[in-house]
Amino acid sequence: MAHDPDCLFCKIARGEIPSRKVYEDDGVFAFHDIHPWAPVHFLLIPKLHIASFAQLEPEHAGLMGHLMTLVPGLALQEGCRPYPEGGFRIVSNTGAEGGQEVHHLHVHVLGGPRPWLRG
Ligand code: AMP
Ligand code: ZN
Repeated sequence: MAHDPDCLFCKIARGEIPSRKVYEDDGVFAFHDIHPWAPVHFLLIPKLHIASFAQLEPEHAGLMGHLMTLVPGLALQEGCRPYPEGGFRIVSNTGAEGGQEVHHLHVHVLGGPRPWLRG
């Protein structure tokens, strides 16, 4: 699995930096955001180092389809209430103007009772 040895989220996915793990399989890793802006806030990443959504290619379709279809089950597991009263928000900041700070593709999953700190 290609990784970048200098990348924070590659290190988290490989267990080289501790995190509060939500889920892991061969292709993806999910962990709680260190600075949550909602009662439920975790990040879902591919283990493969992809810098952002802007670098996605057709070859990533299976991996990204797998990643995205994990969201509803993990959201419920982590305490989001069911749709439609509950639900969740998914966000993937991409590039400087998209507000991206960590350059390893990640999907924020946010939910829980409002108000939230942000969003
Ligand atoms: P973004 O602005 O979309 O690149 O968001 C990066 C997110 O990573 C922010 O919400 C940070 O709080 C979160 N973050 C940064 N370092 C860590 C870490 N060591 N463990 C968990 N979350 C982190
Ligand atoms: Zn990485």
